Amino acid sequence: MPLKSLTINGFKSFADKTKIDFTSGITGIVGPNGSGKSNITEAIRWVMGEQSARSLRGDKMVDVIFAGSDTRPQMNRAEVTLQFDNSNHELKSQQENVTIKRKLFRNGDSEFSINNKNCRLKDINEIFMDSGMGKQSFSIISQGRVEEIFNSKPVERRSIIEESAGVSLFKQKKQQAENK
Ligand code: ATP
Ligand code: MG
Repeated sequence: MPLKSLTINGFKSFADKTKIDFTSGITGIVGPNGSGKSNITEAIRWVMGEQSARSLRGDKMVDVIFAGSDTRPQMNRAEVTLQFDNSNHELKSQQENVTIKRKLFRNGDSEFSINNKNCRLKDINEIFMDSGMGKQSFSIISQGRVEEIFNSKPVERRSIIEESAGVSLFKQKKQQAENK
């Protein structure tokens, strides 16, 4: 399910509304240190339902909202939109185009939507189920994660490989069946 575009507005360093179109093939994002490359991948994880502020390098979730700079005041809202081409129906949706959106306000209010219809976080999680994507899948490997995988103990490394190969889902089902 190819990504079509990412729109970031008020998320971390992106005070101005910024749209990135992903054309076919590989997209590389380059820029000097501190220019916001990691913030872009964090925006993707966030809109896909990331709930851990720490894994987004913050203390509280509102830390993702643009905090202001020397020249501009802080913003009151972060908004990220991710568009997918779902013509192969890998996402759990009948729609050919799927747009997910997440908003967070400084007072803590938050909103999710799928194709402009407000929804719950659970619906966002469900749409990615069995797609190989999602906030915790190995389709997003953050800085330091590769080293972590290399340095992990054989048993941990095995679980990573099983997770990527889709074995862990069956293991979980087997366990559930045995416990019945
Ligand atoms: P590197 O090459 O070092 O990995 P990078 O391009 O990945 O850098 P990021 O880590 O994405 O850079 O961006 C860091 C910048 O984002 C810092 O300047 C930081 O101040 C800014 N930033 C993070 N959170 C916010 C926020 N809430 N409001 C404003 N700016 C923020
Ligand atoms: Mg970085």
